[in-house]
Amino acid sequence: MIKRLVEKVQTLFTRRRRTHKPRQVPVADHGIARDRVPRSALRVCETLQKAGHHAFVVGGAVRDLLINVTPKDFDVATDATPEQIKPHFRRAIIIGRRFRLVHVMFGAETIEVSTYRAGASGEQAVDAHGRMLADNVFGNQAEDAARRDFTINALYYDPTTETVIDYHDGVKDIKRRRLRMIGDPEARYREDPVRMLRAVRIAAKLGFEIDEATRAPIARLAELLGNVPPARVFDEMLKLLTSGHSVACILRLRAEGLHHGLLPLLDVILEQPEGERFVMLALSRTDERVRAGKHIAVGFLFACLLWHEVLKRWNELQAAGSHRIPALDTAIDEVLERQTEKLAIQRRFVADMRDIWMMQPRFERRSGRAPYALLSHLRLRAGYDFLALRGAAEEAPAELVSWWHDFMHADENARAALLAGAPAPRQGEGTKRRRRRRPKPAGAPTATAGDAPAS
Ligand code: ATP
Ligand code: MG
Repeated sequence: MIKRLVEKVQTLFTRRRRTHKPRQVPVADHGIARDRVPRSALRVCETLQKAGHHAFVVGGAVRDLLINVTPKDFDVATDATPEQIKPHFRRAIIIGRRFRLVHVMFGAETIEVSTYRAGASGEQAVDAHGRMLADNVFGNQAEDAARRDFTINALYYDPTTETVIDYHDGVKDIKRRRLRMIGDPEARYREDPVRMLRAVRIAAKLGFEIDEATRAPIARLAELLGNVPPARVFDEMLKLLTSGHSVACILRLRAEGLHHGLLPLLDVILEQPEGERFVMLALSRTDERVRAGKHIAVGFLFACLLWHEVLKRWNELQAAGSHRIPALDTAIDEVLERQTEKLAIQRRFVADMRDIWMMQPRFERRSGRAPYALLSHLRLRAGYDFLALRGAAEEAPAELVSWWHDFMHADENARAALLAGAPAPRQGEGTKRRRRRRPKPAGAPTATAGDAPAS
């Protein structure tokens, strides 16, 4: 009975969302300069419009243009079907099985063109928690706007008339710097729990407030994320970590109660007290790189996130009597086995992670041929960057980091001189086999790569 009443109210609500008239915002009010839209996106819109279709730049790109952020990518929404879109372009492919889209390519650029979609109507398949399993029905523009997540993501920009079409007061929300869900927030989170992560990521990226009604249900519904396929959560977490605002995102996720036990990756980040400093430093460096337009190696990022787990296990195995290098090897195996499935880390990143970690004790061997052998390692640069990060977090001696910097950039003679002047390895370092340690006097420094960080 109650369920039926709720359904009825939701249906009425959805209908109302779909029928109200959009605002037409002229350029004088929105201020988007047409020349900020790349030629490729303009071409797609003009071509489809000439063929008699609707075609608008849509989603994150319009939002970003309105607040003077450079959009990451440009998407186009149209009333044309994929079969109608494709023949208009020389290089275009139809992708996706469940909901088909067209990728139109211009050189290295790809414009994603999607047909208006109807979204949830109450007739779509949902799981036991209300999660939408399919949203693959074509619709009109009003329906397409209503199925989008936030008001600021449901704006349509027509580059020909330079008008922004706004169904849900998105332009006003942008001016108020508010992230507001379209429709009933709880129902929309139930349809797709990933929207909780999107809310946090987009608000952190833009520095917007999350509207109270949109924010309130998050902590309560957080556990619904457990029903989302791990690969999808991984993709969303990767977007978050490489957004250029990962530190802000992580802090917000914690504030919204969106971490404990739900997002294994965040548990890794936030629940290792000794590692927090290292991980936060790694994330802020990643943010700097993203903002400077530099490439982010996913393997490197995950090597940072899981390093302290490896370190902890490595120490345990050594304390139990294993030799240093085999102990590291085993620690890596165990951590990878436990985490790759849980975090849905793709296999291709795992080789990078292992190499970066295994290289760390090798940096300590500064005699004989060993340093020369390391110079020809394919992933030396990543391994060294990792060592430098450990140095910055005061987990590796600064002297070792600068020695390697010099050694990597030196000529033959200078290398020989560096080797001659390198400090002798401490016991347990720089040798394949760990010699039996004499007990240290109480309070003696113990900072080796295998020890807990000096913090
Ligand atoms: P970014 O700047 O990170 O690309 P974005 O908002 O453009 O942010 P995309 O993943 O590129 O994010 O999605 C494009 C658009 O598709 C969004 O702006 C939104 O309108 C819609 N969208 C994406 N994911 C969802 C979702 N889970 N539920 C509803 N609408 C969504
Ligand atoms: Mg986008």
